[in-house]
Amino acid sequence: MTKSTSTVYPYRLRLPGPTSIPERIRLATARPILNHRGPEMRTILGEIQDLIKPLFGTQAPVLTFSTSGTGVMEASLANVLAPGEKVLALVHGQFGERYAQIARALGAEVDVVESEWGYVPNTEVIAAKLETAAYRAVIAVHNESATGAVTDLAAIGALLRDRDTLLLVDSVSGLGGMELQQDEWGVDIVVTGSQKALMCPPGLAFASVSEKARKVIERDDRCARFYLDMRKALAVVDKNETAFTCPVSLLLGVHEALKIIHEEGLPQVFARHRRLSNALRAGCVGLGLPAFGDLTVASSTVVVASVPAPLTGGEIVKHMYDNYNTAIAGARNKLSGKVIRIGTMGDISEADVMTDLYYLEQSLSALGHNVPTPGCGIAAAIEALR
Ligand code: PLP
Repeated sequence: MTKSTSTVYPYRLRLPGPTSIPERIRLATARPILNHRGPEMRTILGEIQDLIKPLFGTQAPVLTFSTSGTGVMEASLANVLAPGEKVLALVHGQFGERYAQIARALGAEVDVVESEWGYVPNTEVIAAKLETAAYRAVIAVHNESATGAVTDLAAIGALLRDRDTLLLVDSVSGLGGMELQQDEWGVDIVVTGSQKALMCPPGLAFASVSEKARKVIERDDRCARFYLDMRKALAVVDKNETAFTCPVSLLLGVHEALKIIHEEGLPQVFARHRRLSNALRAGCVGLGLPAFGDLTVASSTVVVASVPAPLTGGEIVKHMYDNYNTAIAGARNKLSGKVIRIGTMGDISEADVMTDLYYLEQSLSALGHNVPTPGCGIAAAIEALR
């Protein structure tokens, strides 16, 4: 019998993305395919625009791309970088590194402001760096999924308001689970994916484009782009169309997901993410797994817990999967072995957090870790929820 058919331990997807998909959304993705340029699809695309803009905190158009998060990170750069232009990359984790790599791959000259993993970039350091060159863009990760640190985008946006430099932001694992105010904070392009707080299958990505960014995107064509050309997408977005065949099923899923999010209420969704991430973090600390990084900037959508030696993150991940059919994450970077990561985004409740902590306690004990007292993780989580 394969694990996923176990009735004792049903499969639990507890990664920081992809996340598990509520039944209503799965059923929406199973609906018959619509004409991708027909009136029904235009209605769906129009409603998605209206429903998704509050998640970005923008009045700007939100473009749809059939790609994963990395593809739309690439799109954000490919559409604004002319050959030889400079980029300032804020790097404090794996996804910041990836954004910088994409910029380099596209031929940009990339300067880096590097901060310790688990912490966020210092605004004064960024301000000083901005005086040294004419950057086309600053690239930042809103919610660094590798470390669980949340960047102060408002502070960075304020530095760029009176400059030509654009602020491009990867909020693949933040949007929908935590506050984002693109217009107010002065962010020019925000990119995100479907498989995290949006509770949908992977494969669909969005990018919102400010007026300031649009002027750069639409300038004379020195950027190499075709499928990810935002000019093509911008030309049809107001007609509720996409430039190329849209992923109909995924869009039906996102449409349903956005309805679910607004039924709960966006402030309530953010509060739930905050409450449950705090509870899970407290529970991990109770079990003897200290929170990784700077707690003052801790994420609402992912909990990153340090693993004390001689235990390794990989052993815990394997034990949770082998014994409890529960998929959590370790690290695929320099934190490998040192942390575990559990998603607290999308369709999660207190019950998920308590179950995580119960299985985690069992796994830690089985691996020889000295759990302080039976149930101490769950007790700490309950205390945090009070
Ligand atoms: N950025 C962040 C912050 C992420 O968490 C991820 C995925 O985990 C990505 C980018 C890359 O997205 P994808 O794997 O969908 O390409």
